[in-house]
Amino acid sequence: MRYTWLDSYLCKKRCVTKDFQPVWNWIRYQIGGKMFAAICFDKQNQPYYINLKADPVEAKFLQEQYADILPGYYSDKRTWISIKPDGAVPDDLVRDLLDRAYRLMLQGFSKKQQREILHLSCCGTDCGPCPFYHKDCEGCNESRGRVFHAPAGKACPLYACSVQKHRYVTCASCAEMPCDIWNLTRDPQLSPQAFEQSIQERMQNLKEL
Ligand code: SF4
Ligand code: SF4
Repeated sequence: MRYTWLDSYLCKKRCVTKDFQPVWNWIRYQIGGKMFAAICFDKQNQPYYINLKADPVEAKFLQEQYADILPGYYSDKRTWISIKPDGAVPDDLVRDLLDRAYRLMLQGFSKKQQREILHLSCCGTDCGPCPFYHKDCEGCNESRGRVFHAPAGKACPLYACSVQKHRYVTCASCAEMPCDIWNLTRDPQLSPQAFEQSIQERMQNLKEL
């Protein structure tokens, strides 16, 4: 198969899991337990198709444009496409279609579920490695923003603005990111440099969505 980078590209995506389905002879890539991409193998264990979740209108358009993009093999032919692994579909387009398939499946979950699946708070913080997680702090999503450093009985100002006021999945949907509230909620123990680095890391986390 010409897309030798495909497996590592998908596995690097946030919270993607991969397994092998022996009956189908497919490698499946999932987010939140739902498949959004697969490599289908033939009886000689050679890649036969790359299956991807797709928007129905876009799927039809792509099939008209590329001979190597077909209706989804053994899938809902309206919402899945199959790409020939040694065809002429450009690498950049395949990468783009993988990104879209991932986002499409993720967006099928509720906004709260999306943050939970990604282990991200609305401001891009990954609670997982935090020393307070499950000790002094329940976590941002679990406590609905009422983390221990938030004003008593209220959500953290970031959560209050992003989730409660704007109903965003995360601040990534907001043109003002990183706004003044990000600065106001700065951990006082962080140096200016460490805080700037934290902003960059959180924005990078959110960009992956
Ligand atoms: S303090 Fe709580 S909300 Fe903040 S990163 Fe740690 S676990 Fe998450
Ligand atoms: S203004 Fe935008 S970036 Fe700032 S907290 Fe609200 S949603 Fe997030």
